[in-house]
Amino acid sequence: MNKNDLIQQYKDFVIPTYSRSDLVICKAEGSKVWDISGKEYIDFFPGWAVSGIGHCHPRVVEALKRQLDKVIHVSNNYYNEYQGQLAHKLVEASFPGKVFFCNSGAEAIESAIKLARRFGDKNKRYKIITMDKSFHGRTTGALSATGQEKYKKGFGTLLKDFQTVPFNDIEALKAAIDDETIAVLLEPIQGEGGINVADEDYLDYVRKICDEKDILFILDEVQTGMGRTGKLFCYQNYNVIPDVMVLAKSLGAGIPIGAIVANSKYSNVLEPGTHASTFGGSPLACAAALETLKIIEDEKLVKNALEMGTYMKNRLLGFKEEFNFINEVRGKGLMLAMSLNIEGKVIADNCIESGLLVNCTQGNVIRLLPAINIHKELIDKGLDILYGVLTRNQ
Ligand code: PLP
Repeated sequence: MNKNDLIQQYKDFVIPTYSRSDLVICKAEGSKVWDISGKEYIDFFPGWAVSGIGHCHPRVVEALKRQLDKVIHVSNNYYNEYQGQLAHKLVEASFPGKVFFCNSGAEAIESAIKLARRFGDKNKRYKIITMDKSFHGRTTGALSATGQEKYKKGFGTLLKDFQTVPFNDIEALKAAIDDETIAVLLEPIQGEGGINVADEDYLDYVRKICDEKDILFILDEVQTGMGRTGKLFCYQNYNVIPDVMVLAKSLGAGIPIGAIVANSKYSNVLEPGTHASTFGGSPLACAAALETLKIIEDEKLVKNALEMGTYMKNRLLGFKEEFNFINEVRGKGLMLAMSLNIEGKVIADNCIESGLLVNCTQGNVIRLLPAINIHKELIDKGLDILYGVLTRNQ
């Protein structure tokens, strides 16, 4: 089928929830993808951070092939070989507790919301405080938590008991916490919100007030997790440990998987019958995630994210000196952004036409989340393309 027919098929049969670039991707490897005509692109935004260790990592492909020959799905009324092992690894790598598995970021957020509300049920505390410009997913619960009105418009009344406060504003948080509050939920770096980094003293305060008031500190690491920010989990850049950590995206290197890690205090709140997910923690997804964790360790990818992130950020800061329409360069590790005082979509579209995949968020922020195993040569090649686009738009 040719490109136009393929796109027409989407128009005819796929519910049009997405605005898509005119690009049919047929093959991918590492930080490169190829379209239907065979044109090559460098990918600085692999699958919205899903392909965090690059597309089709050969070790993940092998692990999946091995698993496909054994068993694809085992329901959760039985045990499978890998779910416990993966939970153990995640706990070892973060903090003592237990894990619940599901299939996506939104579903993992739902799980965290349910856990918090179930814990609060004994003294009727259900209110969850979330942040302005946050993004937690599109299901009605995750949307209720999301601090951006544009996503909520037209869906009637969402879940009550959510309150949004300005990010990094200690006084606003202090004022919002009351006797009904059961949790504070935030991203350590807001991804969709434009790569807004949490201040250290802010997270210190969240931890302190949560301890004082017996409130859960829930950290959404769906986008920041798995090495992206120069630590395996972003909170490890700070002096705090959350009560519940939410994971998804790059955890399965492309295979859908979501998870929450709940610390020991909260790890038995969700008892049998209170929560479930048919596909959650399947042997296929867990085999992919286990291999992903091993690859991150064996290939020292957390260190690479930090080094390559520093290199990339410095080059972007150089661009800022040269182009007066770049306001700011920000982010940690390989979770970076340039905020512009011109429209970002034109830049992102020009990059794609020139062979570089990047994302524009919030109208004027160019978001760059390259795979954490990217190397300097490809970063330079991608940034040279970006430089050319910036020059043409000057
Ligand atoms: N949380 C954060 C921080 C995200 O960036 C996203 C998706 O972009 C989600 C949650 C929702 O994840 P999913 O699209 O897998 O439901």
